[in-house]
Amino acid sequence: MNKKFSKEQVFNFIAYFLITASILFAVFLIANNHMITNFFTDAENKSFDYRQSLLVNHRHLTPSKDIVIVAIDDGSYEYILDRYGEWPISRDVYAKILDRIEADKPKAVIFDLMFVKSFKVNPAAENLLANTMAKYSNVYTAINFDNQSADVRTPIELPARMSVNLENKSKDVDIERTFGFSNCRAIIDQILNSKTKVGMINISRSEDGIIRQVPVMAHYDGLYYPHLTLLAGLDLINNGEQVKNFVIDKKSNLIAGKTKIPLTKSGEVVLNWYGASLRTYKNIPFHKMIKSIEGDKSIEHYNFNNKIVFIGTTASSLFDAKSVPIDKIYPGVEIHATYMNNLLDNSFIRKSSPLANTVIICLLVLVVCFIVFKSTSAVFATTSTVLLGAAYYLCAYYVMSLFNLWIEVVVPMFVLLVTFAISYLAKYLLKSRDFEHQYKLATTDGLTELYNHRYFQDTLKKQIDTAKRYEQEFSLIIIDIDFFKKFNDIYGHQVGDAVLRTVAQILKKNTRATDYVCRYGGEEMSIILPQTSKKEALVNAQRICDAVAKTPLKVNNNTEVNITISLGVSAFPQDGEAPQKLIECADKALYYAKEHGRNQVGKG
Ligand code: GH3
Ligand code: MG
Ligand code: MG
Repeated sequence: MNKKFSKEQVFNFIAYFLITASILFAVFLIANNHMITNFFTDAENKSFDYRQSLLVNHRHLTPSKDIVIVAIDDGSYEYILDRYGEWPISRDVYAKILDRIEADKPKAVIFDLMFVKSFKVNPAAENLLANTMAKYSNVYTAINFDNQSADVRTPIELPARMSVNLENKSKDVDIERTFGFSNCRAIIDQILNSKTKVGMINISRSEDGIIRQVPVMAHYDGLYYPHLTLLAGLDLINNGEQVKNFVIDKKSNLIAGKTKIPLTKSGEVVLNWYGASLRTYKNIPFHKMIKSIEGDKSIEHYNFNNKIVFIGTTASSLFDAKSVPIDKIYPGVEIHATYMNNLLDNSFIRKSSPLANTVIICLLVLVVCFIVFKSTSAVFATTSTVLLGAAYYLCAYYVMSLFNLWIEVVVPMFVLLVTFAISYLAKYLLKSRDFEHQYKLATTDGLTELYNHRYFQDTLKKQIDTAKRYEQEFSLIIIDIDFFKKFNDIYGHQVGDAVLRTVAQILKKNTRATDYVCRYGGEEMSIILPQTSKKEALVNAQRICDAVAKTPLKVNNNTEVNITISLGVSAFPQDGEAPQKLIECADKALYYAKEHGRNQVGKG
């Protein structure tokens, strides 16, 4: 091992390296693994649904009283089958109902129905519907785009009036990827060729099948076609004047006249929900409208004046059940009503930007690290971190309620947990390193790196206990450098210190790993030799004495000198059974060596 690093330093280095590497590896896995990113996206979506459900229960948004739905509900479907013997109902019925609604002067009538071309043509009924629609400037109907092969269905050319201009300045938004289509289902020519406004009604579901977002445009045959509700809603906002030019700005907002709408990457809006199906907007059953146009006087007259009227199916036997964040079953027409309501209130949900998410995550990491490193109690740190998580979630809830902003919670919570675990680990490692450092300081001598006097005394006591318990013998050697005072006087204390270190090294080299080499004090050193007889210790002492004597010491650039030591040996139990006795005996032998010419092991 390189002398520059201690064992602990190398251990810590490896530990930190492994922790950092595993974090980076985890980040790499998360960023590149679809299963993991999907898991996070899915969990984030669920947390959005949960927030929306809570908000809806607390009525954070008031649904517009102006929006009503003429609903082809289960009862209406039964009535139509019973009365007309077929579905879909003949189109002249819609024409008559439209006349009935328009008589009240509504703001808009939006058919969330597609009047597709059919083999069961009834040109008279279709002409009537198209002509009735064309009478009013506030009627809208739907068209649906798809990617059906041209072999199956020849793509049609749509009238120029249906398309709008779109300039996309955003690098993030890509409408074509999700809402670019190669085909569309044709609706009757009478409508296509009239002035009636037609909007697209495509939907998109998240991976889990839930509809949280709705598109703003479809891209077909090189042109853009606005969503039915967007088209009608913008007309309402602009007093009937159609917005023809749309811009997606650099910050991914759709700018349509005075309206600014935040978009997702696929060019959709995230809906903000008002309430459960059938309980949020006034639903007028379609069969009542039929009875009303048939002259049934028992039907209560509903006044559509200034209402925004959606006509669509809510019958579970007719519509494909859609799931939304707040409800498992939600009819498409109510999704359109919610879209309209968001548009009128300008309350679409905006997702927090990647930059904001990063800042939030960094702040959480800092706070958690601060809590963990600053707190002395693990219970306090854990409780504070859990409370921080809870506070963050609460914050995310209120931010959505107050600012219609969707800030992420799943990844930040995950990061919070990981940071907590890692910072705890790091704190433990630092502490253990600190502990080892303190222990070393307390037990070793700084100059020679031998065990210090206190450690020597403790070890000697323990050795006596062990030797007594197992009936073993052990020895003690005390060493004193000869004429060291003189040496210091001649060469200075600095050189004296270096000599002390060298002697310490020689002692270490000439003893076993199980022996304890200590600095007794000043220039005196001691060695405890467990399970060693006096005879063996004397041999060992002599070897050490010779080793020191024959080691030349460099005192300056061109002078080398030799120093000598005197040694005294004592052994347990023969020389005593108490620490003091053993030290005294070894000292006596050392004194004998000094008296008899030094550089020798004294007889005790
Ligand atoms: P003797 O052969 O009789 O032992 O002669 P001596 O001069 O070594 O006598 P003694 O052991 O009494 O002297 C101890 C000297 O060791 C005094 C002091 O100058 C020196 N000494 C003690 N501790 C240190 C130290 O940490 N660094 C240095 N440089 N000298 C020390
Ligand atoms: Mg001395
Ligand atoms: Mg001395």
